[in-house]
Amino acid sequence: MNTLDENEVQTVEEHIKPRDIIVQTVGMKEMQKNDDAFYIINLGEVVRRFKEWQNVLPRVQPFYAVKCNPHPAILAVLAALGTGFDCASKTEIDDVMSMGVPVSRIIYAVPCKSKTHLQFAEERNVRLMTFDNEYELYKTKEIFPNAELVIRILADDPNALDPMGDKFGCDVNHTRHLLNVAKNLGLNVVGVSFHVGSFCGDASAYATAIGLARLVFNYASEIGFNFTLLDIGGGYPGTDNGPITIQDIAEKINQSLNEHFPVGCDVRIISEPGLYFVWSACTLTVNVIGKRLKEKETCTNKGAADDTVERTQKERSFMYYCNDSKHMSFGYILSCSNLHYAIVPTLLKPAQSNTPKFSSCIWGQTCDGADLIVGHCLLPELDIGDWIIFEDFGGYTMAVASGFNGFTAPICICMATQSVWSFLKPLLAKVTLLTKKM
Ligand code: PLP
Repeated sequence: MNTLDENEVQTVEEHIKPRDIIVQTVGMKEMQKNDDAFYIINLGEVVRRFKEWQNVLPRVQPFYAVKCNPHPAILAVLAALGTGFDCASKTEIDDVMSMGVPVSRIIYAVPCKSKTHLQFAEERNVRLMTFDNEYELYKTKEIFPNAELVIRILADDPNALDPMGDKFGCDVNHTRHLLNVAKNLGLNVVGVSFHVGSFCGDASAYATAIGLARLVFNYASEIGFNFTLLDIGGGYPGTDNGPITIQDIAEKINQSLNEHFPVGCDVRIISEPGLYFVWSACTLTVNVIGKRLKEKETCTNKGAADDTVERTQKERSFMYYCNDSKHMSFGYILSCSNLHYAIVPTLLKPAQSNTPKFSSCIWGQTCDGADLIVGHCLLPELDIGDWIIFEDFGGYTMAVASGFNGFTAPICICMATQSVWSFLKPLLAKVTLLTKKM
């Protein structure tokens, strides 16, 4: 059995940080005259965040949302730690099962599924799945009548940076009707799910949503269902230093669970965190492959006493081109309005504090004229061949990379400190590593 081992992971001393590995990798690349972009995946960060989850949300079992970052090492580590998985397609189900994860740890969590993928779930006996509309019930009846259905309700946080309520989730007022349809079709509905939206902006949105879920549990028992599952979705923060922390959210969730689903109520509580586990675990390093100087003449003495003789000054700004793009790692973040703040370029070669800084922008490498990654930032003058680092870059980055223009995605280098590695290694022995390259 192929497992995640030392051939795939750089094991390092405790004091070594991702930035040290970046420096080392760049040194090697420069010797080999290779300027390709690359990711560092810090597996220790995934482990740390898992332990924090267990600490603050002990009643909630995480089912990692594979779509967020399906890198084989990340999936292997989470499988080894014992998380479940939220899958949205045949491939994701197949990948997770190929690692040896049992179906009891999989939820097929997309409310509208193609018949082919649903058929695949039936063949693999992946029973637990979400729905939010009547048509999905008829389709499920036809293809997978023994499915264990979870009704996804609308419980959006209006402040989430990537809300999903326009597309998914049925209004709570409509749930009685859907549950009656399911009952008449002889389908088995086992619980409620919701997703408050990615990058939740208001921790109390979870409490409100859990309260709504309680109402639906009550309707369900009136109709004759015995609900046993509550799925509190995704939307948790990917870093510890954002506007809302996992501790803020956990406090609200735990209070609301105690009120509506107290310990001993026989309801299994799961969640579907994506970026929570991977956002801060990955760092992207790109190369400056091109550069343009822009000079704008500005008049410096207009309106002054001596303005009969016009004096001008040249304002310099720079455009840089890097070897990633809006069609590769940056697509999702750029597509979320208000998330541009998450794209913070830092330099591998730190500049002296007195080095002049210029208005700069960073473009992607494709021929798309709208492939702008950073519209404005202040940077010292960079040279072609310099390296730019984007920290906290693991969520919906490499996962959404396309091969547009023939460019290939950055390679990934996995690291773990020796203590993390000795904790993980025995757990990883039970997990088959997927062979697909990312
Ligand atoms: N669950 C579902 C059904 C989703 O659609 C998503 C994200 O698209 C997630 C979970 C993960 O969300 P997040 O990465 O915000 O935790």
